Amino acid sequence: MHGELIHALYGHRVIYDAGLGRLAFVKEVLRDGRWCWPPNSEDLIEIQRRVQDIPISLSPDNIFWETVGNSFSTKKAWQGIRSRSSEVLWHNLVWHPSWIPKHAFCLWLAILAAHKTRDKLLAIGVLQSASCVFYCGAMESLEHLYFQCPYMENIWKAVLAKFNIYRPIFHWMEEVQWMIGHTKGNKFPEMVRKLALAATIYHIWLERNRRCFNNRFLPAQEIIRKIMQDVAWKIYTVGNILRTERHHSLCVNWGVLLDGEV
Ligand SMILES: [Zn+2]
Repeated sequence: MHGELIHALYGHRVIYDAGLGRLAFVKEVLRDGRWCWPPNSEDLIEIQRRVQDIPISLSPDNIFWETVGNSFSTKKAWQGIRSRSSEVLWHNLVWHPSWIPKHAFCLWLAILAAHKTRDKLLAIGVLQSASCVFYCGAMESLEHLYFQCPYMENIWKAVLAKFNIYRPIFHWMEEVQWMIGHTKGNKFPEMVRKLALAATIYHIWLERNRRCFNNRFLPAQEIIRKIMQDVAWKIYTVGNILRTERHHSLCVNWGVLLDGEV
């Protein structure tokens, strides 16, 4: 009633007095388009008097969000309750229209340095040694995995070569900066670069876990094949490829056959 629950104002007793159930509908106190509360107690008589100015609509009930006419959606509810932070520079590198969720999540963790790498586990006493599981002799850290370890460096070099990019490999956050600068917009070549970075981060982390927990090893060529497979599958499904030399050579490098090719 005027934004407050009846039983909050009058207590549960009034519901009992009215002879209504706890789950009664509003329509049960309407008769012929008018309010009709049973006059069984002083409280109910007062309620009948107080509700007279609440207009009765015969149209079906609707749920609105914030203002009348604004339909409800879980998206609007989430936007309404969440707090927003300022947008980060790497936002579009991770969250773009063609993102693969598990890859993007892993890349997001890597940019935030949130992976539980062995150096962190050693620091809190979970492990006795933080040595790299790729047997290079160095300590495993995020920087080491992405891509200072020779095994990972070669994988990332092979991925960059598919874009005809041949350059030294930088430290992790410099790589991220480089990728931000070279993947602006969501056109096809930029999209493939973003997909390739996220797929590489994901498959390297998977291989690291495979070695840590399953004692299984895959050769680097197999990791590169898995990266190519995921990226090629996404290229097929997105399909914003133009009939240009640049797009065509990118498709050839990533093993994607265009219509009419065999
Ligand atoms: Zn290593």
